[in-house]
Amino acid sequence: MALAFEKLHWHSKLEVAEYLVPASLTEALDMLASHGGKARVIAGGTDVIPELRSRKLDVSVLVDVSRLPDMDGIEADGDDIVIGGGVTHAAAAASPLIQDKASALATGCGWVGSPQIRNVATLAGNLVSGQPAADASVPLLALDAEVTIASAKGERVVPLSEFFLGLGQTALDPGREILTSIRFQALADNQGSAYLRLAKRKALNLPILVCAVKATADGGNIASAAIALGPVAPVPFRERAAEEFVAGKPATMETLTQAGETATATCNPRDSLLRGSCDYRTEMVKVFVRRGLTAALAQAGCTVK
Ligand SMILES: Cc1cc2nc3c(=O)[nH]c(=O)nc-3n(C[C@H](O)[C@H](O)[C@H](O)COP(=O)(O)OP(=O)(O)OC[C@H]3O[C@@H](n4cnc5c(N)ncnc54)[C@H](O)[C@@H]3O)c2cc1C
Repeated sequence: MALAFEKLHWHSKLEVAEYLVPASLTEALDMLASHGGKARVIAGGTDVIPELRSRKLDVSVLVDVSRLPDMDGIEADGDDIVIGGGVTHAAAAASPLIQDKASALATGCGWVGSPQIRNVATLAGNLVSGQPAADASVPLLALDAEVTIASAKGERVVPLSEFFLGLGQTALDPGREILTSIRFQALADNQGSAYLRLAKRKALNLPILVCAVKATADGGNIASAAIALGPVAPVPFRERAAEEFVAGKPATMETLTQAGETATATCNPRDSLLRGSCDYRTEMVKVFVRRGLTAALAQAGCTVK
C-alpha cells in the first residue's frame, strides 16, 4: 500500500510533492527504483527534515521506512547481535542485550539529542547521515559492525570500516538503497567496551570529542583494542596506530599513556569556535584514549596497574 499526498506543506519553507508510505521492504525498494535515484528515504526525519528546511537536501519525494515490518528487532544471533534498520536510539539504549554485550553502544545511544529525538531517530539514519561524531556511529565502528544494504538488485554487506567515505557521504546510495540491519560480535567475557563524550552541556549539545573503545584482555595484558574517535577527521575515525601500539602489551598506566600520545600523531582535530581549539582537543584525545582503554579493560576484568 502506498499513500501519496498531492502536496505537503509542513512549514512555510518545506515542500514535498510526494510522501510515500510503503508496507514492505520490496515495495519501498520499488518506489526508490521507480524514481530513478531522485527519491530519499526518511526514518525518524531528525536529519532529513532540518536538511529539507535549510535546502541542504533537494528532493521532492520521500519514502517513509519507519513502518516497515521486521526492521525493529534487537536480537542475538549466535555470537552476534543484529539490530534492525528501524531501531531507534531509545530502544537501543534501553535494550538489556546491548547494555550487557555492547555497553559502549548503549551509552552512545543514550547521549543522542533529547528523549524526543531518541524516540524517533534511528541508528540507521545516524550511520547514513555520515557525521564524524555521531553517537551511534562511533561505538559501532569500534565494535567492528557491518551493515546489510538492500536495493531492487539484491543485498550486500559492507563493513563500517568501508562505509564512511567523507563528510555526509557513505557507501550507501541514498536514492536507491535501504540499510536493513546492523551486525556485530557481542562482547565475550574477556572483552569490555566504553564510550566517552566531551560536551559543554548534558543534553542537546555539540560533542567536542567522542571516543569509543573495545578491549580484549588476556590476563594482565591487552590482547587487542579497537579505538574510534570523532570528530577528529571528516568521518568517524579508527585510531589504528594506538590500536597497534597496545596490542600484546601489559595493561599498565604507562602503556595507556603512551597509547594516548600515539593517537595524537595521526588524528587531526581542527580549531573550532564551537568545539574548542586544536590544542585543547588534542590534549583531550590523550586523556580519552587512556580513560576509554582503562574503562573497557576494567569491564573485561583486567585492572590497569
Ligand atoms: C535537535 C537534534 C539533536 C540531535 N542530537 C544528536 C546527538 O546528540 N548525537 C547524534 O549523533 N545525532 C544527533 N542528532 C542527529 C540525528 O538525530 C541523528 O543523526 C539520527 O540518528 C538520524 O536518524 P533518523 O532516523 O532521524 O534519520 P532521518 O533524518 O530520517 O534520515 C537521515 C539520513 O539517513 C537516511 N536513512 C535513514 N534511514 C535509512 C535506512 N534505513 N536506509 C537508508 N537510508 C536511511 C535518510 O535518507 C537520510 O539521508 C540530532 C538531531 C536533532 C534534530
